[in-house]
Amino acid sequence: MSVTKGQSFRQGFPGWTIICGGLFFGLWLSGCNAQHPDRDGSAAPDKPKVVATSTILKDWTAAVAGDEIELVGLLQPGADPHVYEPVPRDTLQIEQADLILYNGYNLEPGLIKLIQSAARDRKTFAVGEVIRPLDYDYKGKREPDPHVWGDAEQAIQMVNAIRDQLIALSPEDREEFTTNAAQYTQKLQTLDRWILVQLKQFLPSNDS
Ligand SMILES: [Zn+2]
Repeated sequence: MSVTKGQSFRQGFPGWTIICGGLFFGLWLSGCNAQHPDRDGSAAPDKPKVVATSTILKDWTAAVAGDEIELVGLLQPGADPHVYEPVPRDTLQIEQADLILYNGYNLEPGLIKLIQSAARDRKTFAVGEVIRPLDYDYKGKREPDPHVWGDAEQAIQMVNAIRDQLIALSPEDREEFTTNAAQYTQKLQTLDRWILVQLKQFLPSNDS
């Protein structure tokens, strides 16, 4: 028997969904790539194992790490981090990880709770929390907005933070991680310029 509790919670979070979807759009092209399957670890016993919560963090980590780590993403494409309820497989992955990368600022409350209990002796890092968040009003309280990746400059800071975590995990791969991160952040900068050009088409012109 399986019960999808997430469905019933979802209806209570229309605002979240809109905020998330809207901000996400900016980096949709680079951040959402469902092509690589999870490598669940059977073949790579000597590589350090990294677990990333969101698909964005997983994609960025894959871009920086190349083949040097075993990488597992917990959230599947399309899953809503705000209401996601961890499954037993997630606990297992976290317990086996050498490094757990999560967004933080309570983007993924279910997974963060699990990480706090199951990853006590594991290395964990809140990638999103390297960014100073905007505040937003949530149920009458000011809370940090966890959607910190919708700006290319901030995405670059997060990619560089992932690079530094991977270097700490596997120092002998420093050069490869550094090169990969530099190439990836260049792509993000190109994307950023492209977005600016697109946006300018919609702004009123002062030339006339
Ligand atoms: Zn969201």
